[in-house]
Amino acid sequence: MTMTLDISSRRERPLTASQPAIPRSLIGLTREELAEVLVEIGIPERQRKMRVSQIFRWLYNRGVTSFVDMTDVGKPLREELERRFTLDRLTIVEEQISSDGTRKWLLRLPPSGPLGQRHEVEAVYIPEEDRGTLCISSQVGCTLSCTFCHTGTQTLVRNLSAGEIIGQLLIARDRLGEWPDQLASNPNPPLGGRYITNIVLMGMGEPLYNFDNVKAAMEIVSDNEGLSLSRRRITLSTAGVVPMIPRAGEEIGVMLAISLHGTTDEIRDKLVPLNKKYPIAELMAACRTYPGLSNARRITFEYVMLRDMNDSNADAKRLVKLLEGIPAKINLIPFNPWPGSPYECSDWERIEAFAEIVNRAGYASPIRTPRGRDIMAACGQLKSASERMRAKDRRIAEDAAAPTA
Ligand code: SAH
Repeated sequence: MTMTLDISSRRERPLTASQPAIPRSLIGLTREELAEVLVEIGIPERQRKMRVSQIFRWLYNRGVTSFVDMTDVGKPLREELERRFTLDRLTIVEEQISSDGTRKWLLRLPPSGPLGQRHEVEAVYIPEEDRGTLCISSQVGCTLSCTFCHTGTQTLVRNLSAGEIIGQLLIARDRLGEWPDQLASNPNPPLGGRYITNIVLMGMGEPLYNFDNVKAAMEIVSDNEGLSLSRRRITLSTAGVVPMIPRAGEEIGVMLAISLHGTTDEIRDKLVPLNKKYPIAELMAACRTYPGLSNARRITFEYVMLRDMNDSNADAKRLVKLLEGIPAKINLIPFNPWPGSPYECSDWERIEAFAEIVNRAGYASPIRTPRGRDIMAACGQLKSASERMRAKDRRIAEDAAAPTA
């Protein structure tokens, strides 16, 4: 009798059609997943932990792009890994640098799905005096259709794999020159040796709809031998997927941001349609019990300022009332317009009057200076150019097909 070893059941985040096609990327495997690969390759148990650490350091501390560079990983293991995995970076389709130093990358993902399509996502780097924030995407497009958000008009949606989420960071490090070799030859290295000090999951997509991959990616990002960024410097922003909020706190342990934008269900239903499913009271209850909250660890509430929609003094007062008892800071975001957007940004005086009310109630309420507007990199403006191109192509095709008089 012969027995076959079934390795198809090994624990692994599901490889669905929305995952990249084979060969898989080695980037994005958690320590446990990598250890399982080593079991398959036949690496003895006593070596596994050390090998995982070595590989992690090469991938995430040194940023190697080829297996040959992993000099302390034995040749047979390196070659076996190379047979099974790729270290390919996401492809940079376009890099734009704003007059304010903000950088935006349009990145092409590896082929995925039965048709081997290559989707695109955007990542944005925002340098400030005391920090450098990288804003990354968790999905291609978004299913939420918030009426003021450009990404929500993009119909194409798939989850990013953990490797694709981390891939955005690796590209940013490549381009900013943050790897040790690059820093060593940099005459003006940044303070503390880092350009990227903070990460926000505020790009395209709803991170809590891609929970497993976001969780795996953040595990690697916060790992000391991974990208070693403290979980307190990672902020996950959600439109309010209430049932996943406690899990985000317990299992991912990052800082939380809530895209609130409205203070009554009537208004919020219009702006964030997800509110119909998870209304404000439920959302606030989930925030109140978010683990680890304190004055030093507050929830950020994002509030986009829309003229005559959500920007009155009464709105500001209701907002203060809603937040009672929650360690919170409020981020007022001037609305960033996009072609065809149905709203206008509130006047500056209105925004200041709103901020004043919130401030007097004891909440920090910085008004977020729009960054990178000239390159459409500001909040809610992200929408991959592939999608824009498609719309343009469609129009050209329609014009061509239109009957001439
Ligand atoms: N889906 C998540 C992650 C996206 S974060 C979430 O909703 O939180 C993107 C942030 O930018 C959100 O707070 C979103 O509400 C905000 N935003 C979207 N469109 C905007 C626009 N046009 N102007 C200003 N902020 C916008």
